[in-house]
Amino acid sequence: MAAAVMHQTMLSATEGYADHGPHVPAHAHPRAERLRWQPYTAHVDRARELRWTCACRLVMYFLVVGGGRAWVRCERRRHVLAQPEVTETEPMLYPDAGRLWERILLGRAR
Ligand SMILES: [Zn+2]
Repeated sequence: MAAAVMHQTMLSATEGYADHGPHVPAHAHPRAERLRWQPYTAHVDRARELRWTCACRLVMYFLVVGGGRAWVRCERRRHVLAQPEVTETEPMLYPDAGRLWERILLGRAR
């Protein structure tokens, strides 16, 4: 979990820039799959965020695992200081969640 440790470390501006995570395209692909986002609920006691998109954007996606399943969490802010609106996909098998994560990063699912 080196990436997670890095994420939580205080970084200087230069290192912070170098640490930019993946950016989801601002505009989804025209034929992007429309995901069914549901309000956040606690699926399991100890969910872990494995991957996340760059925190410099108002919309962040997280690949989350817990209880033998994985899902994608979306945190959407109106502005930088606002509390995020948190929604999630259904929990699914790891390979399905991995593929969904890739499609989200490519703007092919939203
Ligand atoms: Zn960024």
